[in-house]
Amino acid sequence: MTTTAPSDLADPTVPGVPSGLFIDGAWQPASDGGTFAVHNPANGQVIAHVADATVADGHAAVQAAVAAQQAWAATSPRERADILHRGYELLLARSEELALLMTSEMGKPLAEARAEVVYAAEFFRWNAEEAARIEGSYGRTPDGRTRVLVTRRPVGPCLLITPWNFPMAMGTRKIGPAIAAGCTMVLKPAPQTPLSTLALTELLTEAGLPGGVLNVIPTSRAAEVIEPMMAGGQLRKISFTGSTGVGRTLLAQAARTVMRTSMELGGNAPFIVFEDADLDTAVEAAFAAKMRNMGESCTAANRFFVHRSVAEEFTSRLAERMSTLLVGDGTAEGVQVGPLIDRAGVEKASGLVEDALARGARLVARGEVPDSTGFFYPPTVLADIPADAELLQTEIFGPVAAVRCFDTEDEVVAMANDTEFGLIGFVMTRDLQRALRVSELLEVGMLGLNQGVVSNPAAPFGGVKQSGLGREGGRVGIDEFLEYRYIAIPAH
Ligand code: NAP
Repeated sequence: MTTTAPSDLADPTVPGVPSGLFIDGAWQPASDGGTFAVHNPANGQVIAHVADATVADGHAAVQAAVAAQQAWAATSPRERADILHRGYELLLARSEELALLMTSEMGKPLAEARAEVVYAAEFFRWNAEEAARIEGSYGRTPDGRTRVLVTRRPVGPCLLITPWNFPMAMGTRKIGPAIAAGCTMVLKPAPQTPLSTLALTELLTEAGLPGGVLNVIPTSRAAEVIEPMMAGGQLRKISFTGSTGVGRTLLAQAARTVMRTSMELGGNAPFIVFEDADLDTAVEAAFAAKMRNMGESCTAANRFFVHRSVAEEFTSRLAERMSTLLVGDGTAEGVQVGPLIDRAGVEKASGLVEDALARGARLVARGEVPDSTGFFYPPTVLADIPADAELLQTEIFGPVAAVRCFDTEDEVVAMANDTEFGLIGFVMTRDLQRALRVSELLEVGMLGLNQGVVSNPAAPFGGVKQSGLGREGGRVGIDEFLEYRYIAIPAH
């Protein structure tokens, strides 16, 4: 297990940020010398060229993770916790430069990027604390003849695949518990945002993570590189965050070698405003649930269901908030909404809005976008959404609030559950009985009650139905990276 300094192997254009593959503790070029370009979505310009991992590189990364597993599992929990603590401190110390890097490759406004660095760091702090609390149990069988000793063991080498929308936090949410549990890793970041992951990798090396424990392989050909890694049988787990479609493909591949799976997939969150809601709270929560990350969040409120008696007031107040937002390059002073990730993202949001309007929805507000080559989409509020609008079944992933009225509690619960997704829901009401009743009926893994953002490293994040399997964060997050081992001992 060796560690070498980052180099300019792949022609970095972002100073100080490595741009190679990181395998067995060494930065290196792709085996065929290939690179791919990373763009700034605020202006379309290339900001870096990053090594483009090949099938052979994927194989080498797996071999490095497998070779490092035994020694890494044998380290003490305190040793692993200390690395995570140092990682936490370094992330906070570098938050300004990391936030700027994230905004440059992903587009979110600097204030949101800074908040994400802190959120990402907290997964290291939380898991540093968890590392020292991995416990087993000791007991006897009911007939008294056998002692039952139960220990926890790391699952083994893991494959981690992350999306582009939270480039730093989606990495630390997996790396943190994997380090704490004693698993080695191969991480494939999204090709739109590899730089945040590469900077994080370098930071972890500085924090003392031994070579081979975390191997990072950006690639522009995910399917081709990942499939043989899954088929090889040496990786024991996959932890994936991304779309439900890709999740299904990876679940099918995982079945072939019976890998453990954690799947954080797509969402289609209902945001329900009852007639008794505090409208100040509801509008604030709606704004946060919709506009965090420009709406490019799996937890984004996708469908606003508002009681008919308050729909007009709620919609016009939300429209007022959304239409005056400053849209632009996330690094510029005062900008509140950045660009979407790419042209396809803009086309998707725009297609869903046009579809809803063509079917009879009403345009309530549409903000302004800068005259620029960036991938901007105006904050938009739609009302009178018809039942057949495509956006009721599809993640918008953009700054579009779509409002539909309801009359009864039964009706809105049925509408909210009418989706294959079940990640999160939001309920706005001052009636405690109603809040509890509805929270029991909604088919979701998480619920924001009079609150628009729920993500927290101390809480179990994840969905039901086709939004995923398993949980990240909270006391159970580390379980995804641990196995039970039962040792039977005669009790005489
Ligand atoms: P995506 O298209 O599913 O991609 C996610 C990752 O999977 C990327 O790194 C992607 O690389 C890779 N990938 C795609 N096809 C693959 C294959 N056949 N084999 C291996 N890897 C493959 O999702 P996205 O557009 O990046 O992210 C948005 C989605 O993620 C949304 O649906 C959102 O709801 C979901 N999300 C969920 C959570 C959660 O916690 N539940 C959190 C954040 C985001 P390539 O781009 O190169 O294909």
